Amino acid sequence: MKVADRLSALPPYLFARIEQMIEELEKKNIDVISLGIGDPDLPTPPHIVQALIKHAQNPENHRYPSSAGLMDFRRAVTEWYQRRFQVELDPAAEVVTLIGSKEGIGHISFCYLQDGDIALIPDPGYPVYGIGAALAGAENYLLPLEEKNHFIPDLGSVPSDVARKARLMFLNYPNNPTGATCTRQFFEEAVEFARSYDIIICHDAAYSEITFNGYSAPSFLEAPGAKDVGIEFHSLSKTYNMTGWRLGWAAGNAELVKALTTIKSNLDSGAFQAIQYAGIAALEGSQNCVAEMVRIYQERRQIALQGLEDLGWNISLPQGSIYIWVPVPPRYSSAEFAELVLEKAAVVITPGTGYGKFGEGYFRISLTLPSERLKEALARMKEAFGTFF
Ligand SMILES: *Cc1c(COP(=O)(O)O)cnc(C)c1O
Repeated sequence: MKVADRLSALPPYLFARIEQMIEELEKKNIDVISLGIGDPDLPTPPHIVQALIKHAQNPENHRYPSSAGLMDFRRAVTEWYQRRFQVELDPAAEVVTLIGSKEGIGHISFCYLQDGDIALIPDPGYPVYGIGAALAGAENYLLPLEEKNHFIPDLGSVPSDVARKARLMFLNYPNNPTGATCTRQFFEEAVEFARSYDIIICHDAAYSEITFNGYSAPSFLEAPGAKDVGIEFHSLSKTYNMTGWRLGWAAGNAELVKALTTIKSNLDSGAFQAIQYAGIAALEGSQNCVAEMVRIYQERRQIALQGLEDLGWNISLPQGSIYIWVPVPPRYSSAEFAELVLEKAAVVITPGTGYGKFGEGYFRISLTLPSERLKEALARMKEAFGTFF
């Protein structure tokens, strides 16, 4: 059956070759360690699970939820914003519950983009930004995230004819895959840019609570005027180890929230209410579970850093996310290097090109596995390669 052009135009799946290699190794009973998975291994904190159990037992929650989400959940979101960032939001008009933030990030493009429009897409980046925009008919104009700019896009380098045609821009700090963070000042600069060219900003804050060494990430909505030009996507997935639960939100500009709610009410029927009540327990309960999780990631970061140093890398770690973005040794492409490491050490790393063409020259490792396994992976690389530099 012939699929629609929009589907056949999707970029090829880049990890197919690696997945095939993994399968072959596993067939030979070789223990493959994956540093490729961006899915937390730690469990959801028990008080959140308990809240789900309690609210799942209430038949009122067995019916269709509203598309915009429970008012109690949206109020918990606004109170969280107030406590965490001193940002004021109206729960009725400026917040919408999402079935995971990926859902909203994908759908927002369908609200504002059509054929002939341009979307500004950070590269490397979370693939949904560019794919959502392309599925909605827009052309991606890539904003390279380069090490020399601390992985922050140079908005001044976007040609003005492109900026004038652009309708929407995605940003993401703390960043996946680079781990980079940005300042409140950059958000202010982005708001200015958006104002002068009439561009909608969609900021993805999935990793705002996973930062290190005392650094606390700002919200895009803290920038004066942010609410005039954009929204922020957020998710319970990474903060509370709830990737499988599917719960997030978008908050900010009321028109954008309304458009997103309209498209959602036509395509989905909202998030299970018991899960939204569990989300309330997460946002309103003690945040010690978050601090403990960050402590565990911090320990793994140190292990990874030490292991990479033993292999010859001399890198400094950025301050956010659950990833480390590492330059590949000279003479290899990202894909070649990932295949080599898999073949010789049975360790999966993600080639940077999986996140866009400006990811070439890098690979990503993820901290979502127990410290012992991470140590073992790095020891295997040491055993197989000695040092790379
Ligand atoms: C994991 C992740 C998300 C969260 O997605 P959910 O759909 O909420 O699980 C969003 N953005 C980025 C960059 C991510 O890495």
